Amino acid sequence: MVHFVGAGPGAPDLITLRGADLLRGADVVIYTGSLVDPALLQYCSADCEICNSALMTLDEVLSMIESAEAAGKTTVRLHTGDPSLYGALREQTDALREKGIAFDVTPGVSSLFGAAAALGAEFTLPGVSQSLIVTRLAGRTAVPEGEALRDLARHHASMVLFLSAGMLSEVQAELLAGGCDPETPAALIYKATWPDEACVRCTVATLARAGTEAGITKTALIFVGDFLDAPYEKSKLYDPSFTTGFREGKR
Ligand code: SAH
Repeated sequence: MVHFVGAGPGAPDLITLRGADLLRGADVVIYTGSLVDPALLQYCSADCEICNSALMTLDEVLSMIESAEAAGKTTVRLHTGDPSLYGALREQTDALREKGIAFDVTPGVSSLFGAAAALGAEFTLPGVSQSLIVTRLAGRTAVPEGEALRDLARHHASMVLFLSAGMLSEVQAELLAGGCDPETPAALIYKATWPDEACVRCTVATLARAGTEAGITKTALIFVGDFLDAPYEKSKLYDPSFTTGFREGKR
């Protein structure tokens, strides 16, 4: 059996209870060494075989899983954050399906939530935005037509950008080309929930400069939107005059 597990954003106690249990029971752990804090490997047993996938190709990962299966061992494939976001999950699960190897997936706390927690931010504020766009700037991986940052920026929804901290000038230019007000609040969150976490608040107009000044080029998320700093309406749910299935509103 192969378990894909979301490791969470960094802090070792932000993995789920299920994820930690699976690590404890694993004979083989293949972890994304570029982004998973090795402190998480404390959950593994002393005789667990541990490999860093940052040094491996897809085929090498798959053949390691296959040999572990053949030997009746349990493998955990540990991915950073949640495996469903920029996790290269499908290419592994599809290959395992083809080989008839059983697997399951345990979710994790994505870094986007770790970063929101670091700022105490809420993406979906009434009167500001009720949508969250999760995207990236095209890099070596292309972004399909219609999903260019400038097109998504036109929605003025709350935005999170992965894998783009090394291209802040381009991010800034795309956001402005999409009609973002230069004063729109933005933030850079470096290594959310790690001991060396850093948060930098800026605006769309100062994004590139803020990144250069802080020396942030990778392992960071970019947040953009008025949710970071703008007037909003309070929720209806907790309004004294609002009746819900649980509470009668008062006049
Ligand atoms: N599946 C992961 C994302 C993997 S893609 C998740 O759900 O978080 C790798 C990118 O995620 C990095 O380039 C960076 O943009 C972001 N990232 C991962 N961990 C981060 C962290 N702790 N703080 C800030 N950004 C992080």
